[in-house]
Amino acid sequence: MSRRLLLATSNAHKTAEVQAMLGSEWRVEDLRAHPDLTSPEEDGTTFEANARIKAEAASAALPGLLVLADDSGLEVDALDGAPGVHSARYAGASATDADNRQRLKQELRQLGSPGPFTGRFRCCLALARDGQTLTTCHGAVEGTLLTEEAGSGGFGYDPLFVPDGFSTTFGLLPAEEKNTLSHRSRALQQMLRWLEQSLTFDDSSCPPH
Ligand code: IMP
Repeated sequence: MSRRLLLATSNAHKTAEVQAMLGSEWRVEDLRAHPDLTSPEEDGTTFEANARIKAEAASAALPGLLVLADDSGLEVDALDGAPGVHSARYAGASATDADNRQRLKQELRQLGSPGPFTGRFRCCLALARDGQTLTTCHGAVEGTLLTEEAGSGGFGYDPLFVPDGFSTTFGLLPAEEKNTLSHRSRALQQMLRWLEQSLTFDDSSCPPH
């Protein structure tokens, strides 16, 4: 029997990354399996606040289920940390990933500097059950931002982000490579250690909803 985890997201890319990182011992489902749930307003000013909002709302609606929420984004030093917690809607409320990348490229070009533009992806994971946060974990990956896209892998800002120690973007690196060094994988490794120390197998093998 596998352990069951609901990822409080409708972002299929995030779910695929978390499932790949956790492996077959875990069965990761996401909010696409619960279309009746309404998404809470993510009005926190930090990644942690927004991760907790998402985890607590979904776990309150699905009693007994272990719920993990990811809140993540990109910080660019030359833009005073933008887009930060607004990464998903940098180019507007209904912006696509391509729209957001377009805005970032514009903002960087307007700086009138050749770069390099340093920055990082950050991720906060919040684990909750029955509306209560059990723990939170953080991860980051440092890198530089390009003003031209390279690659079409991954999602979001991946084609613009070159992680430190590499010469190519997350958009060109194989998914397995991104998953060993990403902000999400660093937070998830910590979360797994917490789960192993703090929960018994029965805690996470809940009946289906
Ligand atoms: P959230 O779903 O509110 O946490 O927003 C996360 C946003 O940050 C995404 O829509 C992406 O724009 C960006 N982001 C987070 N993680 C990544 C990543 O691993 N690669 C590229 N962009 C990311």
